[in-house]
Amino acid sequence: MTTPAEERPRTALVVVAHPDDAEFGCGGTMAAWAREGWEVTLVVCTDGGSGGPDDATDVGPEARRRISDRRKDEQRAAAAILGLKEVVFLDFRDGELEPSLALRREIVRQIRRTRAYRLVCQSPDRVWTPSYAIGRFHPDHLAAAQASLAAVYPAAQNGWDFPELLAEGLAPSRVKELFVIGAPHLNYAVDVSETFEIKLAALRCHVSQLGEDQTELARRLREWAAERGEPFGVPLAETFHRVEN
Ligand SMILES: [Zn+2]
Repeated sequence: MTTPAEERPRTALVVVAHPDDAEFGCGGTMAAWAREGWEVTLVVCTDGGSGGPDDATDVGPEARRRISDRRKDEQRAAAAILGLKEVVFLDFRDGELEPSLALRREIVRQIRRTRAYRLVCQSPDRVWTPSYAIGRFHPDHLAAAQASLAAVYPAAQNGWDFPELLAEGLAPSRVKELFVIGAPHLNYAVDVSETFEIKLAALRCHVSQLGEDQTELARRLREWAAERGEPFGVPLAETFHRVEN
């Protein structure tokens, strides 16, 4: 059964591993959808507590908590700039994320709670061409992606999976459109020409990770957005593998 476009619930869920992942992968898209009236919820799977300097010597629980708190504040500020409805932190330990049933259950919970029509996630595949940096394949990204895909199908739409959620009143809910960031085959481009500056402004909130001066980063991101848009005839794009469910 097809639903007329105007009757579709305009709800989107973006699931990523860390604070700032979503801005890099789909910041312009989130801002564009929010402008179109979509209610966008961002789910960050980890607590971000491993995001301190690589050469830090104090890596104890207190230091982790301080970093986590700061990154969450940065993420909330960025979400406000992008026009998101809310940010949810699942608080799994940063650096140790696994595609566990526990993670899958929490993503299912968010899909059912928001009745997400669209879901955006990272890619569970390592793509080596063109030559992407290894940082892209953070194991947390792969785990968040794998758990997200498992949550979309079948668990979110099947009441028999995680019956405890049904008992909580979270009825099965079917994600209709899936967008995978950085997938091996990118078949869909979102024109972010109008929202690219908003993406950059959101990234500027993540000072703890990206520093104060993001001039060079912004230049590179603009260059990549132009490259990604070219095959689709779009000036600046974020690209995805999009599939309907
Ligand atoms: Zn990340």
